[in-house]
Amino acid sequence: MKLRVFGSGSKGNALALRSGNTLLFVDCGFTCRELGRRMSACGVDPDDASGLFFTHDHTDHCKGLSTFHNRHPQVPLYANGNTADAISVLTGVDEGWRVFETAETFQVGDVSVTSFSIPHDAADPVGYLFDDGESALFVGTDMGSATFGVKDALARATCAVLESNHDPVLLKMSDRPVSLKQRISGRCGHLSNGDAADLVREVRPPRLKTLLLAHLSQQCNAPYLAREAMEPAVADLGRNVTLDVLEQDSPSALYEF
Ligand SMILES: [Zn+2]
Ligand SMILES: [Zn+2]
Repeated sequence: MKLRVFGSGSKGNALALRSGNTLLFVDCGFTCRELGRRMSACGVDPDDASGLFFTHDHTDHCKGLSTFHNRHPQVPLYANGNTADAISVLTGVDEGWRVFETAETFQVGDVSVTSFSIPHDAADPVGYLFDDGESALFVGTDMGSATFGVKDALARATCAVLESNHDPVLLKMSDRPVSLKQRISGRCGHLSNGDAADLVREVRPPRLKTLLLAHLSQQCNAPYLAREAMEPAVADLGRNVTLDVLEQDSPSALYEF
């Protein structure tokens, strides 16, 4: 399986995975123009996609959908019912949806897809495990805490895109309103650097080869802090695991796993 993350953070999220001839996207959180620019820089043709999957209805995950759907109406849009409804209201896109039940497993091309509920303040948010029989990609961002479903999916992953949103000290010191700080650090907010490291320590994902830290806050985190928090947890795995930090403003390297 191959993965390219077009950008990750509270200003926009989108990624592409490829297995054999199957190209899938997760989230469409950049303007279509910006996403198109990043896709073409990475040699990805949106018309090749067999599906666009949504994690939840926050604008940093769906704001480009309206234009994307107009330009590429043949690309099926996958979400659970509540998320599809919420995104339809937000973007005006009310056709092209293929609605699934959270936790059901289904096949799209060469890839088997399973979603899992995540605690976050959106309509019905999910993370994903994409599995092609040889490798499996975990996508888990925008969650205030890790549930059993999150841990179970992470345990199967060979590559993980895992939220490492904020440094608790920087969040506390920031000039954000108290209510927003509570929202971010709460059960339905975002995983801190320490939360992400604790999750890896607890699950000890036995097949993990690549760990990508995602959805970093630009105000309340720094790539070196996220990396420093995670490094000991990865070292404890006692294996060679590629650890990278994803960026908001530019696409990632191409990962193969
Ligand atoms: Zn987000
Ligand atoms: Zn969100």
